[in-house]
Amino acid sequence: MMLDGVFKTAGNDDGGILPPLDMMSLLRTLFPLPRSLTGDGVRATLKALKQHIPLDIREVATGTPVFDWEVPREWNIRGATIKTLDGRVLVDFADNNLHVVGYSVPVRGTFTREELAAHIHTLPDQPDAIPYRTSYYAENWGFCLPHSLWVTMQDEAYEVEIDSELADGALTYGEFFIPGETDEEILISVHVCHPSLANDNLSGIVVATALGRHFLAQPRQRFGIRFLFLPATIGAITWLAENETYLGRIAHGLVLTCIGDGGPFHYKKTVNGAPVDLAAEHVLRHSGHAYGMLEFSPYGYDERQYGSPGIALPVGCLMRAIHGTFPEYHTSLDNCDFVTSEALGQSFRLLVDLLELLQQNANYRRVDGRGEPQLGRRGLYRAIAGQKEAGGASQMDLLWVLNQCDGNRSLLDIAERAKAPFSRIRKAADLCLNAELITEVRP
Ligand code: ZN
Repeated sequence: MMLDGVFKTAGNDDGGILPPLDMMSLLRTLFPLPRSLTGDGVRATLKALKQHIPLDIREVATGTPVFDWEVPREWNIRGATIKTLDGRVLVDFADNNLHVVGYSVPVRGTFTREELAAHIHTLPDQPDAIPYRTSYYAENWGFCLPHSLWVTMQDEAYEVEIDSELADGALTYGEFFIPGETDEEILISVHVCHPSLANDNLSGIVVATALGRHFLAQPRQRFGIRFLFLPATIGAITWLAENETYLGRIAHGLVLTCIGDGGPFHYKKTVNGAPVDLAAEHVLRHSGHAYGMLEFSPYGYDERQYGSPGIALPVGCLMRAIHGTFPEYHTSLDNCDFVTSEALGQSFRLLVDLLELLQQNANYRRVDGRGEPQLGRRGLYRAIAGQKEAGGASQMDLLWVLNQCDGNRSLLDIAERAKAPFSRIRKAADLCLNAELITEVRP
């Protein structure tokens, strides 16, 4: 692994040196950057993340074929305004980068109100909110503004300028990898293509960054963890096309999105069902937070690319608010006030529990598989009594492990059957391992 600068001292074996990340402050820093599918806003975002995690920033040239698609032209924007004919600025990209439809082609001129109206997007039902719109794959231009402003704009004509550039360039994404003991990996993927939207894209970005920082400081575990920060759809397709021969290494995966609001958690299952689905449900059930489980559908975020035909990776999606169903979704109301530090912290801790479960789940079998072993002789009753105060394993947990470890059932299967949190069953298994009553079975 390439670790430069400040990260050199924080390698896998040195223990927790990196201080925890202030997710809310990072989110506020990233909020105003003009992200899109491609361009300097994405680069600036990834560069900002690189101050916290050793991210590799990769560029893939316009026109590169990726499965049935090709990498699009790169879009950059310097500014955009709508002015009255006497020069009064009514709409300015500098005030809010949602004001311009993403991938708008450059435009400059005087337009009648009627001509302009065909390029204006508003939300009559949420008159003070600015909508978020894009036109990635059809050449067009447009402005997004509060409906309350548009209804006051009754002049015959306006001066319009979008100072943008759509040209051959690159698609930019970020990747970093924490090696594990085996070749198998856990994939964490977030999208980085939305401009000033806090829950939809930034919450996933900052929580993934905090997770990267957290696990960089941990001792090496079984699975490597690969983090991807990419533009939705085309970014995931590009990464999959570039890494097709390695996809078999991905044992578990998660797309993170909209995890900064205070609502209930939602987990969307993988396309064909996978252990990560059971693990996510287990952690959610024992978290104390409200949650819902969603079946897979080929819509939503990049779980649909990871779950597409011929790919079908075991990648689920963790979210809180569900895209398209909350009033702030894809509007200027999805801002830094909609996301809370507390919600980000809860999502982070839940994901630490989930990743630790995936890392620590394993199959064991009894060394002498006949009958119930005598616990007192091996000091196990004493060990259990010692754990009681610290929320450790109970005697029942121990009995479940010793009864169910047949080599085929995982510790997660046993925790589910015992209706006990995985962490306690894991501690019970550790006691049994120390007493040489069970041994690991690797598939
Ligand atoms: Zn979105």
